[in-house]
Amino acid sequence: DNTFDIVKIRQDFPLLNKSIKGRPLIYLDNAATTQKPQIVIDATNQFYSNSNANVHRGAHTLSDDATELFEKARSSVQGFINAKHSHEIIWTKGTTEAINMIASGLAQSHLKPGDEILISAMEHHANIVPWQIAALRSGAKLMVVPINEKGELIFSTFKKLLNKKTAIVAMTHVSNALGTINQVKEIVRFAKQVNAITVIDGAQAVAHCPVDVQQLDCDFYAFSGHKLFGPTGIGVLYGKEDRLEQLPPFQMGGEMIKSVTFEQATWNELPYKFEAGTPNIAGAVGLAAAIDYLNSIDRVGAMLHEKRLMNYCLALAQSMDDIHLYGTAENKTAIFSFLMGDSHPSDVGTLLNQQGVAVRTGHHCTMPLMNELGISGTVRASFSLYNTEEEVAMLFAALTKVKTFL
Ligand code: PMP
Repeated sequence: DNTFDIVKIRQDFPLLNKSIKGRPLIYLDNAATTQKPQIVIDATNQFYSNSNANVHRGAHTLSDDATELFEKARSSVQGFINAKHSHEIIWTKGTTEAINMIASGLAQSHLKPGDEILISAMEHHANIVPWQIAALRSGAKLMVVPINEKGELIFSTFKKLLNKKTAIVAMTHVSNALGTINQVKEIVRFAKQVNAITVIDGAQAVAHCPVDVQQLDCDFYAFSGHKLFGPTGIGVLYGKEDRLEQLPPFQMGGEMIKSVTFEQATWNELPYKFEAGTPNIAGAVGLAAAIDYLNSIDRVGAMLHEKRLMNYCLALAQSMDDIHLYGTAENKTAIFSFLMGDSHPSDVGTLLNQQGVAVRTGHHCTMPLMNELGISGTVRASFSLYNTEEEVAMLFAALTKVKTFL
């Protein structure tokens, strides 16, 4: 743990020095997006300053250089999640696009009337709505596994809902609204017993837990670069080779074809079949730099640090009598989702912002979950490896002040 140096870590992120309303920024909105270390900013700038060209198509050195960087970035992602092949890594603009690719493709190629798609009650809209549409198009049915009062998946009901009509199990690795870490390996193991295709939404997991897709044995895994200290507009769809081979392409155009006549076209090989058009090359290069960054720090130390922040946060929350916490699973990431007395979350958020504390308020793109909880939204402080215990203390000092206003 002692090789995790929080002072040094904070120096790597230039934006953390910013002031908001004359006070030092306390950035606790990391589940929405993370700040970027200097090496990510530099890698993106370097790409545009030194290597910018289109990929895979030039007959010139610069294009070859850009292609090499782009494909090297793909290999970095492959290593990061331990995929078997680099062509199992598809660039997308984020988790949302990745899940849309899978849902839209499976609606065409796999789902039939009467099939069931199993999701959980804690899904983000990005892992609900694409499946609703896929169900509508194919005649399949969307089924929902409920959660208990701690915000954990009720595993016994999950097992009961699995049956031979279950075609797809699509679940989040970590809940963005509650922080619950799902037992995805077990979810996949049981789903496979009924031959369901497994899709894991890893948006909230990759920055906090080690992810090994071969160990999880899932068919698909999706995540976004921007929640992993990388740029916005770049994300990843991982798919097992045979599943990707069977999946129809999502968008049509340049780069994704093998041959085209005016009558028809044939598809390019993986991964290019899913990468129509000029991709976000600088984004991929930036994401690879973010992975380099994570590989350069003590990640186990970072995880312990986040755990410490969460425990401190929970202790301070208990000392205030009117904080109601949502998401009390033992196995959770450092997400503190709460309501204070009967105050409206957005009022709390606004008053925190005036004190330099950045949180998110509202339904967090999980409206069905909020309905289950019987609330319209929460205040969410979400921590990252660069947050400090002093910042946790300052959040509670600010909350104490908020109470005097409300
Ligand atoms: N799933 C979860 C669990 C998320 O937290 C998010 C981002 N809030 C998404 C999906 C969508 O990610 P993106 O907006 O980067 O596509």
